Amino acid sequence: MAESGTRVLIVEDEPKLASLLADYLRAAGYDCEILGNGAEVVPAVRANPPDLILLDLMLPGKDGLDVCRELRSFSDVPIIMVTARVEEIDRLLGLELGADDYVCKPFSPREVVARVKAILRRVERSGEPAAVTGLIIDEDGYRASLDGQPLELTPVEFRLLKTLAETPGRVYSRDQLLDRLYDDHRIVTDRTVDSHVKNLRRKLAQVRPDQELIRSIYGVGYRLDL
Ligand code: CA
Repeated sequence: MAESGTRVLIVEDEPKLASLLADYLRAAGYDCEILGNGAEVVPAVRANPPDLILLDLMLPGKDGLDVCRELRSFSDVPIIMVTARVEEIDRLLGLELGADDYVCKPFSPREVVARVKAILRRVERSGEPAAVTGLIIDEDGYRASLDGQPLELTPVEFRLLKTLAETPGRVYSRDQLLDRLYDDHRIVTDRTVDSHVKNLRRKLAQVRPDQELIRSIYGVGYRLDL
């Protein structure tokens, strides 16, 4: 059973489908609310943020794409987008909306419940402080996102970001970072760290162009400012 008080907002304009989902989610221990109009979602989330949103793509009032974009401008709440067409998913991924998962209709409600559980577990593990700052690191999945946007990182860049994010504000020397990045002690130089930092900075800047998240501390190393 889910932790009591975990709220799932179902945004779905087909009442039968919405109540079917709500039945399954309630049986799994979640509290559910249903909204049938896209225009109602952002005010409702602002007023009372849920723990997760199931968001249908085709909605009256305001479509799911616009709703998702607006939500991401102020919230990291996990979002599962629901679409009626499987070929739509590729296009949605390309738009980088910041949704956490996608499901296609017709779906099995059990499958949706499983995805909801998986995402909530992931969010819980990534820890509160990081979530508040907009950086979410999923160690098991080797994935990271900033402000809801997935970061396309190489394994080395992922480890670099994870290390720096363990203690934001702490300065790590290049040697300390090298130790964390390569467990096979291959021959690498300080320059290697610099070039990975450069690539990681570029990827972070795609999400936050106005902020230098990784600072160079002259003669010492690097630190992450969030
Ligand atoms: Ca619909």
